[in-house]
Amino acid sequence: MNDIRIDKQRLWDSLMEMGEIGGTEKGGCCRLALTDLDKQGRDLFVKWCEEAGCSITVDKMGNIFARRPGQDDSLPPVAVGSHLDTQPTGGKFDGVFGVLAGLEIFRTLNERGIETRTPLETVMWTNEEGSRFPPAMVSSGVFAGAFDLDYGLSRADLDGKTMGEELERIGYAGSAEVGGRPFKAFFEAHIEQGPILEDEGKQIGVVTDAQGQRWYEITLTGQESHAGPTPMPSRRDALLGAARIVDMVNRIGMDNQPNACATVGLMQVFPNSRNVIPGQVFFTVDFRHPDAEVLEAMDAALREGAVRIAEDIGLEMDFEQIWYSPPVPFDEDCVASVRKAAEALGLSHREMVSGAGHDACYIARVAPTSMIFVPCEKGISHNELERADADDLAAGCNVLLQAVLERAQA
Ligand SMILES: [Zn+2]
Repeated sequence: MNDIRIDKQRLWDSLMEMGEIGGTEKGGCCRLALTDLDKQGRDLFVKWCEEAGCSITVDKMGNIFARRPGQDDSLPPVAVGSHLDTQPTGGKFDGVFGVLAGLEIFRTLNERGIETRTPLETVMWTNEEGSRFPPAMVSSGVFAGAFDLDYGLSRADLDGKTMGEELERIGYAGSAEVGGRPFKAFFEAHIEQGPILEDEGKQIGVVTDAQGQRWYEITLTGQESHAGPTPMPSRRDALLGAARIVDMVNRIGMDNQPNACATVGLMQVFPNSRNVIPGQVFFTVDFRHPDAEVLEAMDAALREGAVRIAEDIGLEMDFEQIWYSPPVPFDEDCVASVRKAAEALGLSHREMVSGAGHDACYIARVAPTSMIFVPCEKGISHNELERADADDLAAGCNVLLQAVLERAQA
């Protein structure tokens, strides 16, 4: 442990300056991927990195790698990073913090004249949000081999413009191949986007895993009939079945605490008329858990329970799992570096699981990876009201710095 600390004010000022590009009246930010505003944000980031003595590489997905040389430049770098694009009504911190924290580390090391054994890189991943070009995290996904390059470049917005065309237009269609770039370690610092740290008064989230997800679509079909003359015992009420399944989904989530999430967020009732017994209901189920075996047990409980409920009420059921994203356990050594840094800095911390997807979830497939969370006000993000505290951001950046230094010397 050393006495180097980042400059809290400089980090904050950089976040605020970046937040002016696409800044909204409510204090948020709208900087959609590969728009003119995204180009301005990228240009500013590149300018700042060059001023900090970095060399810049841009790959074919427009991912930007700002490199600070090491004593042995042939070694793979310790990398950090996140994204600069935002949701249409996004905030100033989601993603931007993880990128500018990397820059702040470089500035701090430069001031102290500190050389690291391995090189360091700060990475800006293109189009993490997936708001203009679905899906989310597509460019870190190409980097990690989850998607091929053609798939990434051909993602289109609602006007039919592709990522490839828009990268060319804004001048960020780089020449470097995507992926095949080894990292000794990768760390992503990010606001929590949930309320746990704030509720517990903790400053640092030591992120051990990212949750796996299973998404389902279920259609129950019974029989529509008049709400008056149809006797209760002879009804086949599809909404009654759905209601029982909703309750069961909640119970499955509660039975698998502390880490399970189980949600029915969308439901369509047919014919949706007040004096007709519902004949058909379509709804979705979203299950999340960091342990694949628990997620599988939740899956089994849902399937078994749904069949029983449908049979009890005499309903036909169409049941489909439409998406499975496996859990991501982060690298034990990287997690340990973060925990050790938080302890050495005397910062309150707790282990936690990321409920959202992040670029780090894909990078974990190709490099030892972990994440650092800092609190955000009331857990709100993807919202112009997203706020984070300058002290918390500085704490997170200091943890990042110490973790990076440890891995770079190891
Ligand atoms: Zn983000």
